Amino acid sequence: MKIESPINGYDIDVMVVGFPGKTVCHGGLGWSTIVLLRGHGRVAMIDTGGMGVRRLLIERLRERGLKPADVTDLLLSHAHYDHMLNWTMLGHARIVIGAQEMAWALKEPWGTTPVPELYVRELQGWKTAHQAADGEEVIPGIFARVTPGHTPGHLCYIIKGRDFDVIFTGDAVKNRAEFLCGRTDMTYDPAVSSASVAAIWSLWRERPGNIVIPGHDIPMVLREGMPHYLAERQDAIAAWFGNDIDTMTTIQLSVR
Ligand SMILES: [Zn+2]
Repeated sequence: MKIESPINGYDIDVMVVGFPGKTVCHGGLGWSTIVLLRGHGRVAMIDTGGMGVRRLLIERLRERGLKPADVTDLLLSHAHYDHMLNWTMLGHARIVIGAQEMAWALKEPWGTTPVPELYVRELQGWKTAHQAADGEEVIPGIFARVTPGHTPGHLCYIIKGRDFDVIFTGDAVKNRAEFLCGRTDMTYDPAVSSASVAAIWSLWRERPGNIVIPGHDIPMVLREGMPHYLAERQDAIAAWFGNDIDTMTTIQLSVR
């Protein structure tokens, strides 16, 4: 979905809209938001998804006349597999991750958390990797803000527009429910996370029309103080419950 743009010279295109849920019997789901920004001579992606999204991502770029090689910058919100793993698709690009996030992720014990250990270790020494500080302008007009809790060095990214701002929350606030109740699931530190939710609420309320793009939900705007989705939900899975591979049952994952 396209966001009304340009905003501060950027076209904002949500190539993959994240899903606000988890599985019941099969562990994490990890369907996360991936955004494309074009402007100021840059083709930037915010987050890049997990292994399962690779083909879709290449297809979504192709639909826009782009190849992975055309992406100039990758801005990572945090070091979980479902947001950062495909940096290897964009190894030629400048890859931004929070300095605190990298320091934390490198020390995570192997084989126990959603941190993809080997991808993090490789990124640390990668020639185009850049470890960003809180408040840094990571590409022209886009600022990083440390929003800890979900992970210790998580970054949100903020574009200040003429009329309104766009806040890419990553997993600091994953979905509408977390915004509304101020509490978060799957967090490293619940109290620190709630403080980050409150901080992002302040940014959101700063100007009417400000948009948030969460890590696992549809972009939203505030109307009379309440989050309002900017698109219809479109989530489904298909399963082979029949007797041949051509027969699939589609299961809608949306509540209307
Ligand atoms: Zn995460």
